[in-house]
Amino acid sequence: MKPDSKRVIADLKELKALTEDERGAQRVAWGPVWRKTRQWFQEKVKRELGLDTQRDGAGNLWVTLPGASKDSLVIGSHLDSVPCGGWLDGCLGVLAGLEVLRRAKAAGTPALTLHLVDWADEEGARFGRSLAGSAASAGTLDAQRELGHLVDRNGVKLPDALKENGITLEGMGTARAYFEALHAKAYLELHIEQGPVLESMKKPVGVVLGTMGVERHNLKFLGQAAHSGAAPIHLRKDAFLAAAEFALACREISVKHSGRTPRTRVVATCGVVKVEPNFVTAVPGSTEISIDLRALDGKVLQKMLALAKKASLKAAKKHLVSVEWSPLLHITPRPFDETLMKFARASVKEVAGSAPELPSGPLHDAAEMAALVPTAMVFAQSSPGISHTRVEDTPLPALDKSIRAFLLTVDRTLAHLG
Ligand SMILES: [Zn+2]
Repeated sequence: MKPDSKRVIADLKELKALTEDERGAQRVAWGPVWRKTRQWFQEKVKRELGLDTQRDGAGNLWVTLPGASKDSLVIGSHLDSVPCGGWLDGCLGVLAGLEVLRRAKAAGTPALTLHLVDWADEEGARFGRSLAGSAASAGTLDAQRELGHLVDRNGVKLPDALKENGITLEGMGTARAYFEALHAKAYLELHIEQGPVLESMKKPVGVVLGTMGVERHNLKFLGQAAHSGAAPIHLRKDAFLAAAEFALACREISVKHSGRTPRTRVVATCGVVKVEPNFVTAVPGSTEISIDLRALDGKVLQKMLALAKKASLKAAKKHLVSVEWSPLLHITPRPFDETLMKFARASVKEVAGSAPELPSGPLHDAAEMAALVPTAMVFAQSSPGISHTRVEDTPLPALDKSIRAFLLTVDRTLAHLG
């Protein structure tokens, strides 16, 4: 059967009308609109496929289409959104997965069993821990330690929000065993890019190389506050100047380590600077500055981090101040599977003429899966190249091509694994 995007786009529009207000999508995990979304999805699955859905201990929602073999292909993404989010982030992948099941069922019994999953709380928008559902399935979530103490803006505790949905922290620990029983041989996900790369290349759809590793740290440069008129330049211990030299050095490090290909693109960002005492007539006595380094190659990432540390010491010495590092976040890079990427590349090329490749800066559920099973992702162009806002969009021709390229990627994967 020729791949067709019509039903997926119609479903996306239906969901948008059901869960969006004038500020955007409101499908925040564990809340009433999210539950309504899942209800809608479950009824659709029952009506169109005659299949029941199952929920694992972490609240991930599964649809299973039995195949000739127990070995399975898992397809997934997330129906939850950030508050005032867009109409495509996450639900594009789930609804494209539904189309995979519709096509497979119409064609008879698939060679492999197909599992479609709507991961719970991918966004972490309400309590701050993203990828909770997929991390539970991957066995990388310590629910008690990581989630037990989290509280939302209104003072609601995460365990209480889970309880409203019939889920417990202890129960989340069983999601790993549920996943292991699926005999998954591969994981595929379609998602919007959420950035400007494909749009800038004028490409509707791309192949994702993997998710970048992250090294995020906070630095504190400590000097001596002094009067701006009384303190001669050569006697100052200016913590801000040290931080500023560090920021410029980090830019140099990212430029030096960025290759010409998307695979070797790296980034370094100093997004937060806090100066004290923070008034116009004071030499800054202390300055906090953040650094966020990202690369697809783990070795390159560690080299960048080592060089950034060296640069901070050099800047501190020059300005007669001290520097202290505190780690905020460490994520290892997750390169995707070469064989599956080959299928994605062939499919994207077949539909769109060429197959651009790009790494993903944002994390996705696929990053959790990549540690367990061969994994690949297809990105639809974002235009404008932004997400997590109601203006998030993908032009219909690009949406159509990305859905068809994804369906073909599934076909090729099934033919290979079956
Ligand atoms: Zn998403």
